[in-house]
Amino acid sequence: MLEMRPGCERCDVDLPPDQTGAWVCSFECTFCTDCANDDFQRVCPNCGGELVHRPTRVGDALRKHPGSTLRIHNPPS
Ligand SMILES: [Zn+2]
Ligand SMILES: [Zn+2]
Repeated sequence: MLEMRPGCERCDVDLPPDQTGAWVCSFECTFCTDCANDDFQRVCPNCGGELVHRPTRVGDALRKHPGSTLRIHNPPS
């Protein structure tokens, strides 16, 4: 099951689990659309893997399994 991390690792913008616009790699490094497309060309800067669109989680599924609240933020060095 995806963690559904709450924000972009690069710019810390909110990425709610029930909204589109989040991109993840196989390790679930999580980025917003701007960072994933413009900065990284859909390649994860941490592991080199493909960034794909994260599916949304809505309704009962989201109530039973709310997204992660642990914010991971690694601003550009
Ligand atoms: Zn971002
Ligand atoms: Zn990664």
